[in-house]
Amino acid sequence: MSKITLFWMRRDLRLQDNHGLYQALSQKKNVQCLFIFDKIILDKVKDKSDARVTFINDTLMEIKKELQAAGSDLWIKYGTPAHVFQKLTDEFQVESVFANHDYEPYARKRDAEVGKFLAAKEIPFLTFKDQCLFEKSEILTDQKKPYTVFTPYKRKVLSQLTDRVLQEFPSEKLSREGENLNKSVKHKTSFEFSDLGFSRSQISIPPKTVLKNTLQKYTEQRNFPAIENGTSRLGVHLRFGTVSVRQLAKTAKKLNDTWLSELIWRDFFMQILWHFPKVATQSFRPKFDEVKWRDSAADFKKWCEGNTGYPLVDAGMRELNATGHMHNRVRMVVASFLTKHLLIYWFKGERYFSEKLLDYDLSANNGNWQWAAGTGCDAAPYFRIFNPMTQAEKFDPEDEYILKWVPEYGTDRYVQPMVEHNFARGRALATFAETLKGDKK
Ligand code: FAD
Repeated sequence: MSKITLFWMRRDLRLQDNHGLYQALSQKKNVQCLFIFDKIILDKVKDKSDARVTFINDTLMEIKKELQAAGSDLWIKYGTPAHVFQKLTDEFQVESVFANHDYEPYARKRDAEVGKFLAAKEIPFLTFKDQCLFEKSEILTDQKKPYTVFTPYKRKVLSQLTDRVLQEFPSEKLSREGENLNKSVKHKTSFEFSDLGFSRSQISIPPKTVLKNTLQKYTEQRNFPAIENGTSRLGVHLRFGTVSVRQLAKTAKKLNDTWLSELIWRDFFMQILWHFPKVATQSFRPKFDEVKWRDSAADFKKWCEGNTGYPLVDAGMRELNATGHMHNRVRMVVASFLTKHLLIYWFKGERYFSEKLLDYDLSANNGNWQWAAGTGCDAAPYFRIFNPMTQAEKFDPEDEYILKWVPEYGTDRYVQPMVEHNFARGRALATFAETLKGDKK
């Protein structure tokens, strides 16, 4: 049987500065890159022309080309990871499997199962940190507990963000030289995108480079949704690992501390999900699950479709539905509106975003939804309720962003507000106060 070492790509879809790939290529010969379209994940994707699936496919095709130019290939499989590894280990003498760490509850379960299967065959499964700056318990309080408040967490991160942490792993050099890539063992793979049961999406993906100007002016511009290139739009690339977070953090350190803070927020929510995986389905502060949330399908539909009568909310939801993106300021406003004005449980909004956002990431989405709803760690207190009209005046003073997405705003074709602001605010405050009697926040 032919001997190979597998490098299993997941959310690290690049050959550049890829830690796991670097380790595989510097330790082993005959390294074969592998990607598995996981049937368990794809079966749950409702939209059969989901833009993220198209993006993954297109990225894989680029990687395949790069590997072919070096005399190797990318093997693309469709199925459950357990089944794929069963078949590959039947067909080849797999010496070891390399990958990068993945921290979401499903990924942890998947990797534990694959690891167990490989261990039974005495095949080492070697995994590395790649998708974040600090992982798991690397950043703890002096009492060795996970941080649940951002500011002290960030302070600790900054004190430890040394050149060594940001050191690159030049996997691209090793793969270009091709020396340790598998070139001899061929495998018949005839993967076609249509085999997945998906069709191509028409939604376009922002470039994976960020303008120097965007970062230099980030602090002043990041809150204004009408400003083009006011933020990096790298979310989707960070999500799928088509860029290296180490390289971005190095740039951020040089150019803009506020932007570096955003990358640290990303790590912060990753470690929250790692230490408190229950937040995936429950409020971080369990008392909030007892709130008498309203269950109105009609109201939820108006919010989803951007027909609430609050123009900034509607612009945001329509932008999301059309492009898979929504500006951060507007995400905060729409999330606050759903959970406070409509008093609908944050989880419903979080799930809606998970279907639509190109940059959807369980830890960031969940953490930010719970922050906005006031149910999370280090969340805004429940009594701080955004006024969607004053938010619009402040952050879209010329209605530029609003009119782009809600062209009928200001005409009699625009819907009336679905709920009056002061009434909604009072209702939310009373409902939260009732549940949280005695609770300070
Ligand atoms: P930039 O402003 O250029 O920031 C650079 C990167 O830093 C982002 O791409 C992202 O990786 C990270 N980042 C920035 N802000 C945050 C933050 N508050 N929390 C965690 N990471 C951050 N971000 C996601 O990546 N995935 C999500 O599913 C997601 N859901 C959100 C839901 C709500 C309700 C809210 C309020 C925010 C959410 N965010 C999410 C955070 C933020 O809105 C996006 O990261 C940002 O808008 C992406 O645009 P950008 O790439 O131009 O970011």
